[in-house]
Amino acid sequence: MSLLTVSNLSVSFGDEKTLFKAVDRISYEVNKGEVLGIVGESGSGKSVSSLAIMGLIDYPGRVKATALSFENIDLLSINEKEKQKLVGADISMIFQDPMTSLNPCYSVGFQIMEVLKVHQGGTKKERRQRTIELLRMVGIPDPESRLDVYPHQLSGGMSQRIMIAMAIACKPKLLIADEPTTALDVTIQAQIVDLLLDLQKKENMALILITHDLALVAEAAHRIIVMYAGQIVEEGNAEEIFKLPKHPYTQALLRSLPEFVEGKSQLHSLSGVVPGKYDRPQGCLLNPRCPYATEHCRQVEPELRPFEQGRVKCHTPLNSQGEPSYA
Ligand code: SF4
Ligand code: MG
Repeated sequence: MSLLTVSNLSVSFGDEKTLFKAVDRISYEVNKGEVLGIVGESGSGKSVSSLAIMGLIDYPGRVKATALSFENIDLLSINEKEKQKLVGADISMIFQDPMTSLNPCYSVGFQIMEVLKVHQGGTKKERRQRTIELLRMVGIPDPESRLDVYPHQLSGGMSQRIMIAMAIACKPKLLIADEPTTALDVTIQAQIVDLLLDLQKKENMALILITHDLALVAEAAHRIIVMYAGQIVEEGNAEEIFKLPKHPYTQALLRSLPEFVEGKSQLHSLSGVVPGKYDRPQGCLLNPRCPYATEHCRQVEPELRPFEQGRVKCHTPLNSQGEPSYA
């Protein structure tokens, strides 16, 4: 059953003359207890789209959608009070840099207990007990003695564990993790991903894992959405996407992973960068970087269409040989 429904979500900035669509008509669903990976380079609209779901896009940003709903709640029309009840409780989010998300002035125990106070009430003793339980759940050793610790006394990995404890404090049905490991040491990254997946299973929550790192979602996600320049270019079952990417951009992302490059003479990563505000090409947005681009691609933008088990936004999706399937 669909927990989150996103239909034709766009987020734009600027006025009529300088209009920039950071997110351009994206649609997807997240089911209960599912892990969805959202992948793309920086500037692809991954974070902005999630902030829009959380209601965190402020003026001058504009959010438009034909539907944006969580369970049966219309996120586009709820008021501030309803939003506060929902966000941080049923839907919560963790960000890339735990150091900037924790308040340096308060102990970590106090910060977690505040989240519980706002959303769940209860007595001070109950909140303290739950906080200790949460710290234990996220693998903080000797949790009782850590309640009074301040963020600056913690390593990056430990701080991210605290952020996760805060995010799951109210047993969310959906957790959005935006580049949760990017700011951490490589050795800690795997631990944090394992922790998130472990909690996701135990608590049966849905998890949206946002990352630029396709390898990270390879094993973690059930389904993957690949974004490019504010649009979804491919969606599919994680295993399928890894075996047989259908979109040239996904293929390039995969081929740039070290395990795919090893032993091969050449690194296949795409040249160039995601188009910015003022240099959007005509036709398919990938065409200046795509090795398979044709004149048709330079003129006509492809639609995101159902293809085999998933969806692909390309005139000539790739076949099982990894080559364009010209009709
Ligand atoms: Fe490449 Fe053309 Fe497909 Fe765009 S439509 S991804 S340019 S082949
Ligand atoms: Mg981001």
